[in-house]
Amino acid sequence: MGLSDFILNRRCRGCGAQKTLLCGACRADVEAAIGPHRLVAGSLPTHSAVRYESTVRALILAAKRTGSPECIAVMARLAQVALLQCIDEVGTESEVCIVPLHSGAKTRAGAGQDLVVAVLRQAVKGMRDSAVEVRVADVLQIRPHAVQQKLLNREERSSNVRGSVRVAARARLQGRSVVIFDDVMTSGATLRAASQAVGAVQGQVLAGVVVAHRPWISSDSGRQAGEWMTDD
Ligand SMILES: [Zn+2]
Repeated sequence: MGLSDFILNRRCRGCGAQKTLLCGACRADVEAAIGPHRLVAGSLPTHSAVRYESTVRALILAAKRTGSPECIAVMARLAQVALLQCIDEVGTESEVCIVPLHSGAKTRAGAGQDLVVAVLRQAVKGMRDSAVEVRVADVLQIRPHAVQQKLLNREERSSNVRGSVRVAARARLQGRSVVIFDDVMTSGATLRAASQAVGAVQGQVLAGVVVAHRPWISSDSGRQAGEWMTDD
C-alpha cells in the first residue's frame, strides 16, 4: 500500500480490497443487482434500480460519509437506470422536470455537497440523447423533520413529514410533467410529501425515482412487512 493509499484509506467500500474505492468484483455485484423495481409510495408509482443492501448499501453509505467521486458515479449510473425505466414507462412526454429531494445536514457535511442533487445532475448529464428532454428543477424547500424519521414507524413517518416540504415560489411547475427524485426510499413518506407539494402548485407528478429502496421493516412488530413490489 502506498503512502497516499494509506492516508486516503483507499479500500474497496464493498469488500475492503486495497488500492481501490470500488473493486471490479464489487462493481460487477452492483451491476448484477440492478432491477428494475417498481414500487408504490402511497399512490405514487416509484422506480428503483436496486435494493438497499450488501454492496449497494456499503457504497451509498461511503458516498454519504466521504462524497467519494467513484461512489457518486455508481449512484449516478443506478439513478440513470431508474430514470430511463421511468421515462420509458411514462411514454411520450416531450419534457420531464426531475425534482430532487435534498440530503440531510449530516450527509451534506460528510459528502461536502448535497448528494441527492449531485447524483441526479451527473445522471442527467448522461441522458442528453434520451428521446425525452430531461431537466433538473431543484425547487423543493425542506424543513428539517421534528423527529428523526428513522426513529418512527410508517404512519408516524407520514405525519412527521407532512407539511415539511414546499415548492419555492420561483418554480414554474404549473402543467409540467414532474418526477420526484431521491437517493434511498424507506417508507416513501418524503416522496409522497414532495409529490403533494408539487401537486399543490399544479405540477403533474408522474412518478418517483430512487437509486435504491429499503425493504420496509415495521418498527412496532419488528417483522419484515415486505416490499411493495407490484411486478418485480
Ligand atoms: Zn470490492
